[in-house]
Amino acid sequence: MNCYIYYDEISKDAVIIDPGAFTDDEKNEIIKFVDDHELNINKIINTHGHIDHVLGNSFAKEVYDKPICMNEDDVFLLEGSRDQARFFGLEIPPLPGIDEYICEGDLITVGSAQLKVVKTPGHSPGSVCLIDDENKVVFCGDLIFQNSIGRTDIPGGNYKVLMNSIKDKLFLNSKDDYVIYPGHMDESTIGKEKQYNPFLIS
Ligand SMILES: [Zn+2]
Repeated sequence: MNCYIYYDEISKDAVIIDPGAFTDDEKNEIIKFVDDHELNINKIINTHGHIDHVLGNSFAKEVYDKPICMNEDDVFLLEGSRDQARFFGLEIPPLPGIDEYICEGDLITVGSAQLKVVKTPGHSPGSVCLIDDENKVVFCGDLIFQNSIGRTDIPGGNYKVLMNSIKDKLFLNSKDDYVIYPGHMDESTIGKEKQYNPFLIS
């Protein structure tokens, strides 16, 4: 999965979005990036509560000691995270709890930039997109991917709700030139997905 570090080049303020790090190599890659760019991590944000996205929460909390933020409706996934991990053959220690709930309309300040929280359920009940309108950037978690959409065949998933989140929430809160950074695979743009995503053209 994709972990993102979003930062202000001038103030060096930064947030970690979905610290899915599990191996030492993955953890060291995050630490090295933060150190190389001399960043101050302010928050650890989860776009949703699936195990691959929250697996590095303990590590990030331990190293940076900053609040972990997620929408409240995915807490049940965190509580079941050890079962989720076992499903993938992993034994993990209990994950730390959420320190701050993020809700529709919240603004998260990162230096001179702001990430707007837009609630986009469907892949999971508490999934959110983080949108920076000034820089035209969307962190969309597993809502939508390049030419694909998030799975809805898992507990809490709902195809109809997901499609409504894409059309009524994501598209109404962005423009075609916004770049989307999904939780898996490559980046895209809102315009390209409207034009080519097979789940959206019919
Ligand atoms: Zn997911």
